[in-house]
Amino acid sequence: MKWWENLCNKCGICCLKKKVIDGNCIIDKNSPCQYLDIESNRCLVYEKRFILCRECRKMTIFHALFSSYLPDDCGYVVFFRKGGFLKIFTKILTKYREEG
Ligand code: SF4
Ligand code: SF4
Repeated sequence: MKWWENLCNKCGICCLKKKVIDGNCIIDKNSPCQYLDIESNRCLVYEKRFILCRECRKMTIFHALFSSYLPDDCGYVVFFRKGGFLKIFTKILTKYREEG
């Protein structure tokens, strides 16, 4: 789904290695996934990422809502936790009303 993938602003945070310490998920900024191009923050094996990388996780609504390691400006966080969904819904509704 293109719209879903487009929510990602390619900051690369979720392609860094994570450790769980005292129940908290901590990002290790010095350990990018081996398949991350650190210049562009793009995945080098995007289409095969779940086959090639054991640690690669699909972004879900659950992650978007609850994963503590996602930064505040992650597109999924903005969309699901900070009202981004409502803004888009309101925009569509307004357009629909204007067009009668
Ligand atoms: S943290 Fe969010 S915006 Fe950054 S790469 Fe991951 S999904 Fe994309
Ligand atoms: S394989 Fe997964 S974790 Fe690794 S760079 Fe690609 S999308 Fe990120």
